[in-house]
Amino acid sequence: MFNLIGRKAIVTGANTGIGQGIAVALAKAGADIALVGRSAAAETQAMVQAEGRKAILVEADLSSIEPVGDVVSQTIEGLGRVDILVNNAGIIRREDALEFSEADWDAVVDTNMKALFFMSQAVGRHMVDWASQDGARGKIVNIASMLTFQGGIRVPSYTASKSGVGGLTKLLANEWASKGINVNAIAPGYIATNNTAALQADETRNRQILERIPEGRWGDPTDIGGAAVFLSSKAADYIQGHILAVDGGWLAR
Ligand code: NAP
Repeated sequence: MFNLIGRKAIVTGANTGIGQGIAVALAKAGADIALVGRSAAAETQAMVQAEGRKAILVEADLSSIEPVGDVVSQTIEGLGRVDILVNNAGIIRREDALEFSEADWDAVVDTNMKALFFMSQAVGRHMVDWASQDGARGKIVNIASMLTFQGGIRVPSYTASKSGVGGLTKLLANEWASKGINVNAIAPGYIATNNTAALQADETRNRQILERIPEGRWGDPTDIGGAAVFLSSKAADYIQGHILAVDGGWLAR
């Protein structure tokens, strides 16, 4: 039920952090992976290959949707098809709401939400065809955030984009469930990556965050991998539009 042997996956933002953790977890479960990054995700490629799986490198800057078609065609050329799409690439910009710039708004919303939608559309068009031909369900896993549920502070475009990711996950599930595609999301809690380096480095914020997490520790990218395998697998065939918090209990507080 949980194995992904023979399945072909795209993971965006696969160079580091959560994307790398997810790519390796999918590979451990048996999937071959197209690793999408602004630069070649060579370290992640070696980690996937060490699991005995195929990993192809696709260089693309998803701050615009211009490369979306190429990402999908290069994946189909290299792996044959796409069964799983993990929309993970994302950025964050921090500034007081009173000072927040249009540039910081557009950069975050375009990468975190617009590219996620158009990647899903481009892959979804193929998944619908394949599902009607051979019955194999396509799986789309979006990376949401605690700020899909909460307001956050000093991150207005990030909160807007991740709240949008939650809404789009439900919309796409509504439209595509009957067409052979599962669309779900993972909402990571506080995970130790580049994205949260500023918070980890701030002694006061770091202490406050740790005090509020029931698990009492920052999450690790490998903590997200298992949830991605589950949502990409047959075990999750009847799960639709769900946003799965993997947060050490943060939202339970
Ligand atoms: P990260 O280490 O900074 O990873 C972000 C990844 O996205 C990097 O591989 C980065 O590539 C890629 N990326 C950024 N902009 C891109 C673009 N324009 N085109 C292609 N790839 C791009 O941070 P992370 O924490 O693993 O973040 C991964 C996802 O998890 C993001 O969507 C983030 O919002 C989400 N998330 C993180 C946390 C957390 O606590 N860490 C919590 C909730 C949600 P480069 O290597 O080229 O920069």
